[in-house]
Amino acid sequence: MSEVAERLSQIRTRVAAACARAGRPVESVTLVAVSKLKPAALIREAYEAGQRDFGENYAQELRDKAAELAGLEGLRWHSIGPLQTNKVKYVTKVAHAFHALDRLEVAQELSKRRADAPLACYAEVNVGGEQTKSGLQPEALGPFLEAVRALPGLRMEGLMALPPPTENLEQARGYFRQLRELARAHGLAGLSMGTTHDFELAIEEGATLVRVGTAIFGERS
Ligand SMILES: *Cc1c(COP(=O)(O)O)cnc(C)c1O
Repeated sequence: MSEVAERLSQIRTRVAAACARAGRPVESVTLVAVSKLKPAALIREAYEAGQRDFGENYAQELRDKAAELAGLEGLRWHSIGPLQTNKVKYVTKVAHAFHALDRLEVAQELSKRRADAPLACYAEVNVGGEQTKSGLQPEALGPFLEAVRALPGLRMEGLMALPPPTENLEQARGYFRQLRELARAHGLAGLSMGTTHDFELAIEEGATLVRVGTAIFGERS
């Protein structure tokens, strides 16, 4: 077994255990393997081990890897990083979902290019209230969702967050709860939250997608 296959197997076991603790079916959580800055060869190894959902942060890197791995049937690309309008085209050509929607301009451009096959989107919320972070403030979510729901080329599936790193588990849990409550208040079922550090906690708090990179592919340089 390859190292990636071994790590994937461990992560799947941990996902299943977290689902069991939360009384949730294991199919209710999609594991997105975050492959940013990692070579296509490792993605292929994960694919051969049964992994189908992959996350990339950078539009050109997504474009290049999608071209290189175009032969892998059923592979789904998740675009999970901030996006500039001039790079939207790289995402709309290949993405199964976009997780970092926080600007109307980007939403309009995505919609224009996916009129025939609406793109699944998650609005990113800045749950930690960090100054430097991307994501919408919770108060801005209502008007933002109203505007993006009117766009024909997008399908709003849920909310996404990348909370500030914390060693305090209760604080991390609080961020995930906040996102879950916001999603419910806005009638959204999808919750993209949890990374290597805290994906089990996120599952316990209702994550429908977890985005795990380091624990599958190793440290990034
Ligand atoms: C890099 C990244 C991840 C994965 O983080 P790990 O700590 O490597 O699991 C998840 N979500 C986003 C938005 C990222 O940029």
